[in-house]
Amino acid sequence: MAIQSVGIVGAGQMGNGIAHVFAVAGYDVLLNDISQDSLDAAVALIDKNLTRQVSREKITQADKDAALARIKTTLTLTDLGPSDLIIEAATERETVKQAIFEDLLPHLSPDTILTSNTSSISITRLASRTDRPEKFMGFHFMNPVPIMQLVELIRGIATDEATFKALYGVVEKLNKTAATSEDFPAFIVNRILMPMINEAIYTLYEGVGSVQSIDTSLKLGANHPMGPLELADFIGLDTCLAIMNVLHDGLADTKYRPCPLLTKYVEAGWLGRKTQRGFYDYRGETPVPTR
Ligand code: NAD
Repeated sequence: MAIQSVGIVGAGQMGNGIAHVFAVAGYDVLLNDISQDSLDAAVALIDKNLTRQVSREKITQADKDAALARIKTTLTLTDLGPSDLIIEAATERETVKQAIFEDLLPHLSPDTILTSNTSSISITRLASRTDRPEKFMGFHFMNPVPIMQLVELIRGIATDEATFKALYGVVEKLNKTAATSEDFPAFIVNRILMPMINEAIYTLYEGVGSVQSIDTSLKLGANHPMGPLELADFIGLDTCLAIMNVLHDGLADTKYRPCPLLTKYVEAGWLGRKTQRGFYDYRGETPVPTR
């Protein structure tokens, strides 16, 4: 089935990046959120990021104008009904995602492919609550979407080959690279990345190193482009905590227990860059460690 129209649910960090790359690749995008502020912020950010791509000569001004014109927004989820492909990129909470699919299903064509950008929730379980588990897949983009090359494709137990092939083709059209992961907690990237970030937070919690020394150590000692705490702030500490909880619950191994300090930051609402405070305070000119 040819995919031309894409409905994206959730216009946060990921939703806006996904809308951006689909629009540049020529898809018609309808972006939905429960918050008008999120929708407005998403379109403003896409505009800004496209402008940056124009100035770096990655795309032309005409490409930018055409991409922006392909993006529409709506607060009404059911407006996404005619879409060929749904990409759910709302808050990382299973009940939220389930409710979205439940509300959408009666309005979709039977051919519409359903996907979730979840970082960690079982694709098989999300799919099983829909009327089309064979047309459901994990479609895991990396942050920031316009820059990161990888897309993880996660088949649920019931996903059929036609759906997998269709999404593989979409990834090619986006000029990105697909890696296939089986549907186990946190898939591949986060199965490896999050325990490292959690361990960095334990290292801070136990006083082994300061925010600065931990990030400097991994940047200069392991050649990571960002320190783990800087990266945690970038991903969002609520998302990091949710992923650790999924690993802990799903694999029942104490090595995945979330660090209490991570929980504390989330309880404080210090969620990283998106709330201007996490392991660093971003309210001033340069980020300042908060511990
Ligand atoms: P975010 O908090 O930036 O954005 C979530 C958005 O979803 C918000 O704008 C919120 O208003 C909206 N939302 C909540 N409930 C909704 C509903 N019922 N209908 C429509 N919109 C709703 O979160 P994010 O970082 O963009 O993460 C979104 C998804 O992408 C999560 O599943 C997350 O695990 C996944 N993900 C995140 C990253 C990352 O680095 N942040 C990377 C890959 C995947």
